Amino acid sequence: MKADIDKKLRDRNIKPTAMRELVYEILYKHKKALSLYEIEQQFDNVERSTIFRTLKTFQDNYLIHSIDDGTGAVKYALCDEGCTCDADDLHIHFLCNKCGQTHCMKEMPLPQLKLPEGFSFENANYVIKGICPNCQ
Ligand SMILES: [Zn+2]
Ligand SMILES: [Zn+2]
Repeated sequence: MKADIDKKLRDRNIKPTAMRELVYEILYKHKKALSLYEIEQQFDNVERSTIFRTLKTFQDNYLIHSIDDGTGAVKYALCDEGCTCDADDLHIHFLCNKCGQTHCMKEMPLPQLKLPEGFSFENANYVIKGICPNCQ
């Protein structure tokens, strides 16, 4: 497992450290988007700023993407291999109104939007709200 994680980090030009390995493992294990607070809860005694810096490094190197699902807390989820987080790689997210969990709908890419003259694309958050299978 550790070797697998180190490879994932190195593939994204991120030098593996104990902290980075742990944060990656947490995101991998949970298989859903987590907020900084939720990640912090997995640790006994780690500075929030350390976790934040780790997430920032991951995000800068396209290992994870951030999601603004409207709940007020930015959430983070692992990217697929080869993801560069541009418009073609973005997917829809699903926020469950009952459990508050946000899921990546990786099989649902963003619809192609043609912006009016003079507008340029930088980022998009496409969030569907409803009830997840666990809460049905
Ligand atoms: Zn749910
Ligand atoms: Zn996602």
